[in-house]
Amino acid sequence: MDDGAPLPQTESKRLERVAQLCARDTQEDPVFNKIVAMTSEYFNAPIALISIVDKHEQWFKARIGIEECSTPRSASFCAYSLLDNQPLEILDARSDPRFKANILVTGAPFIRYYASAPLLTDDGLSLGSLCFIDTVARAPMSAQDAAMLNHLAELVMMRIMGVRSRNYIDQPTGLFNRLRFEEDIRETLTREGAIRIYAVDVTSPKFLNDVVKALGYSFAQDLILAIKQRLHALLPPECLLYKISPTRFGFLIAGRVDREVISPRIIESFKTAVDCHGIPILMHVGIGILPINGNDEQDWLRLVISAADAARDRGLGYLLYDPTFDATQQRAFTLLSSLSQAIRAEDQLRLVFQPKINLPSGRCEAVEALIRWDHPLLGTISPAEFIPLAEKTALMPSLTSWVLNAVINQATLWRKRGLVLKIAMNVTVGDLESPAFVDTLIGRLEAEQLPADRLELEFTESTLMTNPTEVVQQLTRLRNLGVEVAIDDFGTGYSNWIYLSTLPTSTVKLDQSLISNLTTNEKDKRLVKNLIELASGLGYRVVAEGVENQDIFDLVKAWGCHEAQGYLIGKPMAAKDLEAWVNSHAFTA
Ligand code: C2E
Ligand code: MG
Ligand code: MG
Repeated sequence: MDDGAPLPQTESKRLERVAQLCARDTQEDPVFNKIVAMTSEYFNAPIALISIVDKHEQWFKARIGIEECSTPRSASFCAYSLLDNQPLEILDARSDPRFKANILVTGAPFIRYYASAPLLTDDGLSLGSLCFIDTVARAPMSAQDAAMLNHLAELVMMRIMGVRSRNYIDQPTGLFNRLRFEEDIRETLTREGAIRIYAVDVTSPKFLNDVVKALGYSFAQDLILAIKQRLHALLPPECLLYKISPTRFGFLIAGRVDREVISPRIIESFKTAVDCHGIPILMHVGIGILPINGNDEQDWLRLVISAADAARDRGLGYLLYDPTFDATQQRAFTLLSSLSQAIRAEDQLRLVFQPKINLPSGRCEAVEALIRWDHPLLGTISPAEFIPLAEKTALMPSLTSWVLNAVINQATLWRKRGLVLKIAMNVTVGDLESPAFVDTLIGRLEAEQLPADRLELEFTESTLMTNPTEVVQQLTRLRNLGVEVAIDDFGTGYSNWIYLSTLPTSTVKLDQSLISNLTTNEKDKRLVKNLIELASGLGYRVVAEGVENQDIFDLVKAWGCHEAQGYLIGKPMAAKDLEAWVNSHAFTA
């Protein structure tokens, strides 16, 4: 069997370039088609091809006169032209020992004459060739024709590189993009042995989004251009700036850096607002820095971006990459990627119930449902860890549906057993920014013929509302049904009095961080006493959560709290244990 042409010495580098420059697109390129048509016409040849020689086969970027899109490399004529990167002309393949047994000579398309010019990269590697083929033998071509074939091959290369450079540009800014940044990192590292890469996070995607909403897309684009200009002026002249995501720029410094000077300069400069169409906009910049010394290929951009995000989130200015950011991200990634499976699985998610007691009677008439996730590999994972992650993804609605379903099932079961207990479930902003959740809730209550007052919602504003009107509308629907709504974690985060007055709620649940310090912190003591008085005065029911000891319990009771919840009274427990707890009247106030 004929194995075809021997491999050129530079084969592995050559294949790398083929992979970089010649994606096997499915779409035809009209320019390549035009070049093969011109070649066929000019040389009056039935077949013309742009052939890319890959590891095991040659494939055609454009072709005329044959049906096949590729052939095995062993049958490739073009593979021979790789050996010396020179034009190749075969006058009659039948009398050439290299080709006379070739399947393309002995069978269709019965090649006799073949001429090619190599497709050469700047660094002298050949990707394949532009060739034309005849099914009858020919005399050698003239020097003028040979020059013409070379020109056409150069045209092919110009197109290959042109398409490539278009793929490298971030259109709105005209800067090189992330793809090019990655390639330049690799190249500079090979040349220099050590580099530092930087990611400059100029703002949060949410802020940029808000700017687009408030001032329009073209304003946001101009703002990014103004930021680009400012960054350009701050970098050394030989340093290229890249745009690596909608809100991030990147650059690299070759060699080892002893003292970080660029980052403080950038941070200092952005303390002054960026002017865009006369409007000053203050950016919250974070810079991530990743020194790379070895050639151990890693996901460098992800690492440096995680450092930049951490720098901006923590208001630190700039931050050298620390492997612990990565560990946190990896864990978040692992959790999120297994969460949808957990929602479908039978045995990973479960609810526990924590008693809430009325004051001053001490009767337990309600419980809070709290989710638990038993991860098959990582063990039990706290909702305080996975709920905030899920909230940032499209998984949250399915998770809330799962909880709603489990809560309704439990409420139905308890009702059948004659146990009168209200169940409170936790919802977040996202659950109320569309009617879907409340629609499902109403449907389920009706299907089970469950009175609405058996349910209560605890609403946490863990992320800022983007659509407050819709949230108010959904809360109003719930209240009209008779479902009680409490504001959870009151006294922290975004919740405040103005915000409270805009929401149709009847209950505030004071955050446990305020309650648990009551006996040790005088300031908290005064604050909580005032909060309880104010909220009660305004007609709200007030709940204290995180009641861990008798002293705290006595205080909140004396100050007029309507309800209390905490480890002192009862920890979150499985439904069966909760029933037993209720039946044994386990807590006496
Ligand atoms: P939360 O709604 O404020 O729930 C109270 C949290 O405090 C629970 O933590 C509870 O176990 C804990 N806790 C209760 N009493 C005490 C106490 O005396 N001392 C201390 N130190 N802690 C106490 P858990 O179960 O880890 O839940 C954390 C948060 O996760 C919840 O805070 C809630 O915001 C969220 N969450 C839990 N389940 C769900 C759910 O089904 N859906 C949604 N959206 N969020 C949930
Ligand atoms: Mg809660
Ligand atoms: Mg809470």
